[in-house]
Amino acid sequence: MKYTNLFEKENVSKLCYGTLSLSFLQNFDSLESKVNLLNYAFERGINFYDTAELYDNYNILKEFIKDKDRDKLTLATKSYAYDKQTAEFSVNKALKELNTDYLDVFMLHEQENGNNFRGHYEAVERFMKYKEQGVIRHFGISTHRIAAVRDSLQFDEIEFVFPLINMMGIGIQDGTVGEMREAIKNAKKHNKFIMAMKIYGGGHLINQAKKAFDFARNISEIDSIAVGMSTFEEIDANICYLENNELNINIKNKIRNQKRTLMIEEWCVGCGKCASKCSQNALRIIDGKCVVDMDKCVLCSYCAGECTDFFIKIV
Ligand code: SF4
Ligand code: SF4
Repeated sequence: MKYTNLFEKENVSKLCYGTLSLSFLQNFDSLESKVNLLNYAFERGINFYDTAELYDNYNILKEFIKDKDRDKLTLATKSYAYDKQTAEFSVNKALKELNTDYLDVFMLHEQENGNNFRGHYEAVERFMKYKEQGVIRHFGISTHRIAAVRDSLQFDEIEFVFPLINMMGIGIQDGTVGEMREAIKNAKKHNKFIMAMKIYGGGHLINQAKKAFDFARNISEIDSIAVGMSTFEEIDANICYLENNELNINIKNKIRNQKRTLMIEEWCVGCGKCASKCSQNALRIIDGKCVVDMDKCVLCSYCAGECTDFFIKIV
């Protein structure tokens, strides 16, 4: 495993386990099997785990960390907090449900640009107080937009930037992959920690997985890469890619059969709540039913959480 420094914290694995793949939005396995995956990743050297309030999976991480030395793990989470109360709610929920005294990274989820960030400033001020108290170690943003990465330079509070990037630019909402690279480069010059997300374009690039991983690995400004993994083989494969090794044929065959898709059940009543949540414009209501455009969908599963009847599933 390769490691990096998260500011003063040394030996943070360059491969971060993105746990959206273990949330109820995407994964219907038992708690025990999900914890087994996290334990396996940990044994293989992964000590960096990303989650979010939205993923509703703090219980899995709590189970996973309970017998570990907390200081040897790095936990990142995020929420849509916009004022003092929602910031306090998010931090207290994370601390309580993870059963931890501190969070290594707390981010504002899905930021769009500097103006959007300013609109959350009351929450940011509360996060800064938590930082002074050591409850949050670092603060940042996650985003699918170049403008948010660019505008992060205007805010010293933002130390950690978690942008979407992949070799085809799939899912970048406001420009090209070249522009995102440039924005990342500038953010790095200003000492932001950069963690890449969606390097496989939400599954679209899985047939070129090594190439897609190499693209992110070879961008020197990227400090770590978060990947959602839901099988032992995926963990092995991503560690192989990080170390620039070739996969053995057994792992290759198993991965090949793991392509995921988004399913909308026939009971959908076409209310449109899910479509309004999709920032990729991948959902449309046609003849009273929701329809997905898989060329646009990056399998983030945020729409699934909007359907209170659970008609959307990532399978
Ligand atoms: S939220 Fe559920 S019921 Fe409403 S359009 Fe989406 S899938 Fe259909
Ligand atoms: S359709 Fe759903 S899973 Fe696909 S990009 Fe939109 S919100 Fe994400």
